[in-house]
Amino acid sequence: MSKKTFVTKEQIQEIVKSWPTPFHLYDEKGIRENAQAVKEAFAWNPGFREYFAVKATPNPFLINILKEYGCGTDCSSMTELMLSKALGFSGEEIMFSSNDTPPEEFVYANEIGATINLDDFTHIAYLENLIGEFPKTMSLRFNPGGVYSLSNGIMDNPGDSKYGFTKEQIIEGYRILKEKGVERFGIHAFLVSNTVTNDYYPTLAKTLFELCVEIKEKTGVQMNFINLSGGVGIAYRPEETPNDIRAIGAGVEKVYNEVLVPAGMGDVDIYTEMGRFMMGPYGCLVTQAIHEKHIYKEYIGVDACAANLMRPAIYGAYHHITVAGKENAPCDHKYDVVGSLCENCDKFAVDRMLPEIEMGDYLIIHDTGAHGFSMGYNYNGRLRSAELLLKEDGSVEMIRRAETAKDYFATFDCFDLYKDLV
Ligand SMILES: *Cc1c(COP(=O)(O)O)cnc(C)c1O
Repeated sequence: MSKKTFVTKEQIQEIVKSWPTPFHLYDEKGIRENAQAVKEAFAWNPGFREYFAVKATPNPFLINILKEYGCGTDCSSMTELMLSKALGFSGEEIMFSSNDTPPEEFVYANEIGATINLDDFTHIAYLENLIGEFPKTMSLRFNPGGVYSLSNGIMDNPGDSKYGFTKEQIIEGYRILKEKGVERFGIHAFLVSNTVTNDYYPTLAKTLFELCVEIKEKTGVQMNFINLSGGVGIAYRPEETPNDIRAIGAGVEKVYNEVLVPAGMGDVDIYTEMGRFMMGPYGCLVTQAIHEKHIYKEYIGVDACAANLMRPAIYGAYHHITVAGKENAPCDHKYDVVGSLCENCDKFAVDRMLPEIEMGDYLIIHDTGAHGFSMGYNYNGRLRSAELLLKEDGSVEMIRRAETAKDYFATFDCFDLYKDLV
């Protein structure tokens, strides 16, 4: 199977007249169609809400598009809470699913009315100490421990993960919160990342639904919402079959009807916190080939580096690459495509078969719309790129400017000696 780009060589040649490479480019049309599909897939649940995981793509212009489809935000930190507030999200539209949380972030989340999703049993007393009285709505994060496997062999190891409450702790947690006057309850779990199977949410839903029935029996706490969190994956590789969100929604509906409805819990709201699935395929990193190197292997040096997209360097993650304008050329050259960092892991592709690359060619690195730009950093003094939006009408809008040296030096502004840099 081939993977298509949402931008052509001709469009890139136009864009670079205003904004030089490298840049992340996002596809408004793709974002909108997907957000609509998510909404429809869960329309059977009247209280459904997707809380977009801000950390995936913390850009206000993009989050505002999702807002039009009824999405809220899922925040992991102070700045993400601040961004959500600035974008006009109301309290109930903001989920605060953080861990190892600094005290001031709990206080701020409570102030703006966000739903606090506690990561640990000890955080119950910690939060009470900080804010006195619990908010009316509270959520707790579950970790089932052990190994969690799906029918197609995908698995992860919650027993090794730092997140969440054990089963005994979470049951006790709801009991305490109820005693302390909390009125609305939620449960959350995130067990496997980037699942490319329609099975993950339905399987997780069954685990959580059955647990909620047990919690109700043991504590009298009736769950108001069940948060399936993130983890719905995307097809980074051409041979993978993309997830079908309608099949996923229908799969969750089926277990909802099998487990919750007979237990008299047919009014529970389903929440999700997808990041990757909402944005991943609708962003790409456009970069230009600036060097070629023929030593023990063949290298193509591009003007982007791991500071613009870290996933290949840290996880060996696969990102498909298209050479713009050579979409139909034979992939008969084997290259390592590399960035400039003084780290040998700074490779966007290793031993990748691609069309012959000439200096000046534009390379489109696919699926950078989530956990792409946002994982960027400044090692080697490299600056973060611009983010651009390819709009539905074909025009392009800058939605974040590229960093400049002044930004890089900005934190020296308190030192007179270096004021010329700032
Ligand atoms: C990272 C994260 C998400 C989003 O995960 P994706 O894999 O991008 O869908 C959602 N919720 C929490 C708590 C997270 O940490």
